[in-house]
Amino acid sequence: MHLIIIAPDFETVEEINLYLSKLGNLLIDGRPTFGIDCENLTLDLIKISEKILIIPAHAWTPWYSVFGAFSGFDSLEEAFGEATPYIYAIETGLSSDPEMNWRISKLDNITLISCSDAHSPSKLGREATAFFYPLTYDNIYQSIKTGNIAFTIEFYPEEGKYHYDGHRACKVCLSPKETKAIGYKCPKCGNPLTIGVLHRIETLADREEGYIPSGKPLSIHLVPFCRNNS
Ligand SMILES: [Zn+2]
Ligand SMILES: [Zn+2]
Repeated sequence: MHLIIIAPDFETVEEINLYLSKLGNLLIDGRPTFGIDCENLTLDLIKISEKILIIPAHAWTPWYSVFGAFSGFDSLEEAFGEATPYIYAIETGLSSDPEMNWRISKLDNITLISCSDAHSPSKLGREATAFFYPLTYDNIYQSIKTGNIAFTIEFYPEEGKYHYDGHRACKVCLSPKETKAIGYKCPKCGNPLTIGVLHRIETLADREEGYIPSGKPLSIHLVPFCRNNS
């Protein structure tokens, strides 16, 4: 599972790096991989500093995400066990927006943030989270912990690569309803379809589409200048 780790200062970052370097090779990739489950990782990080934020990234995408079709988790508790009380937020990813996440009542007390998922500089700022002043770490930490953020800037989730179901090799793209009707198999090659974000949301949702809770931060949807959704 991909996690965003936010630290209060560079001394803490050094401690985190020292800890992670015992679990895997930090230098191999911008997104290094470690052989530890997210419950133990979170508990270890909190021991370094309670001010570290651990946030599941692109929470609904099929791969490397907490609720994705291939993750096997249907709740934060299943994924994080005893560490669940330290998970204050999820990152909604490019293929989902707060409106979709509001359909899941279990997430009512979880802050929904948005980030770029930038694998390269040109992808910085694809989505963003705006905070109230003052822009100090303590304020950002408290804002994420309590859900008191100003607003998020979102892709239209339909633009996200994993919004619908499909099979990329066959250029097949289907709505959750169509996927169910044809038995979860690619109509061209017969291989299992990749189950997208909307499908997973509909599986876990306990509220109708269009539900708007009170007191949640605004979400602003923007169309990107250039198409860049991978
Ligand atoms: Zn990722
Ligand atoms: Zn296919």
